[in-house]
Amino acid sequence: MIEWSEQHKQIRAMVRRFIETEIVPKREALEFGDTPPYDVLRKMLATFGIGEMNKAMFLKALEKEKRGEGTASLESSGKGGPAAADARAMQMIPIIELCRHSPGMVTALGVSIGLTAGAIMKRGTTAQKERWVPPLLTLEKVGAWAITEPGSGSDAFGSMKSTARRDGDGYVLNGSKTFITNGPYADTIVFICKLDEGNPEHERKILSFVLDKGMPGLVQSPPLRKMGLHASPTGELFLEDVRVGKDRLLGETEDQPARSSAKETFTAERTGVAAMALGIVERCLELSVDYAKNRVQFGRPIGEFQLIQLKLAKMEIARMNLQNLVFRQIELAGAGRELSLAEASAGKLYAAQAAMEVALEAVQLFGGNGYMAEYQVEQLCRDAKVLQIYGGTDEIQVSQIARSLLA
Ligand SMILES: Cc1cc2nc3c(=O)[nH]c(=O)nc-3n(C[C@H](O)[C@H](O)[C@H](O)COP(=O)(O)OP(=O)(O)OC[C@H]3O[C@@H](n4cnc5c(N)ncnc54)[C@H](O)[C@@H]3O)c2cc1C
Repeated sequence: MIEWSEQHKQIRAMVRRFIETEIVPKREALEFGDTPPYDVLRKMLATFGIGEMNKAMFLKALEKEKRGEGTASLESSGKGGPAAADARAMQMIPIIELCRHSPGMVTALGVSIGLTAGAIMKRGTTAQKERWVPPLLTLEKVGAWAITEPGSGSDAFGSMKSTARRDGDGYVLNGSKTFITNGPYADTIVFICKLDEGNPEHERKILSFVLDKGMPGLVQSPPLRKMGLHASPTGELFLEDVRVGKDRLLGETEDQPARSSAKETFTAERTGVAAMALGIVERCLELSVDYAKNRVQFGRPIGEFQLIQLKLAKMEIARMNLQNLVFRQIELAGAGRELSLAEASAGKLYAAQAAMEVALEAVQLFGGNGYMAEYQVEQLCRDAKVLQIYGGTDEIQVSQIARSLLA
């Protein structure tokens, strides 16, 4: 794929119009107030029929699964072909467009649908999928995926303290999680912990449970104050003796390959960062070009200064590279292939650094105005930084790529 088709461009124009009328005017409340993003996201899914379409596709695949014909997921078309490529493109366009204004909204949406519903679709039993996935796809319910703890981030499995202990025919869960996207508002939570059989921590099995808001012993903190990404609420979860039946153990077996399930989730999360970065970079470039043409110093538009031109040229190079990464992902979907974890890590590392560099340079190009909240590059710069941290830090991506090269 070398460029967007006419149909893609039409969809993009519609999504852009929606964002400009429904989201841009609410920027102040979403970014600097405490307004959660879910109502406007629901409206967006409903306006474009995305939620209902995904739900219908999923329910159809679930019926097939019940008949023993495959596994229900949104990727059931996974054999490639033009429809699969097109479906991927249609997923990416709203991500790119939303990220031009609100990377936080993409994070909130992506965690709910991509990570939470995604994890249940990949590893849940048919009954678990039927119970929890459909309302997540329309955002009728908000999802959270919780692995990080105060003492375990990059070393997510090694340092994990949260436990499940067998209790009759169910389990008792304890532990705390932090930095959880949607944590304060989530209705459905995938909670990852270790099975404590009295054995050494490093030998314990990793299990995932699905929890519902309001369960006795589960506390969801208010949103944490943070540097950026304000449209995505982030919080802590505290579990004290939360009793669950086996029906909440993802896959309903202790022998689920939960580590590989979490790795699949990391791959999905990292793959999505290229489209997010593209949205941020496109917008920074657009704003910067406009400012460079109009801001006059020393009697000339600043765009006539070569040092400003260098910034614009580097932004354009980043935009082209990110665009190519996104097109490649669409091509791969058409070929029925997903990225490997190492490929996704390489793409994420590049995309996150490119977005951060471009956004920082955009702030510089805007001078004092760039540092002011009134100008959007200030927000995009704070938001871009998180791409280098969540879903695995830059340093962890480096080690993932190196591990694959040196294997
Ligand atoms: C806004 C936001 C939303 C998030 N959402 C979620 C969510 O929904 N669910 C969830 O489970 N988590 C979430 N996270 C957590 C995120 O995934 C972690 O913050 C991230 O993985 C880093 O872990 P940490 O913060 O514990 O940093 P640490 O692991 O303590 O790292 C500290 C520093 O040490 C470096 N470092 C660590 N290990 C190595 C190494 N082996 N080699 C070199 N350097 C190393 C890191 O790169 C980093 O620079 C979110 C985080 C943020 C900021």
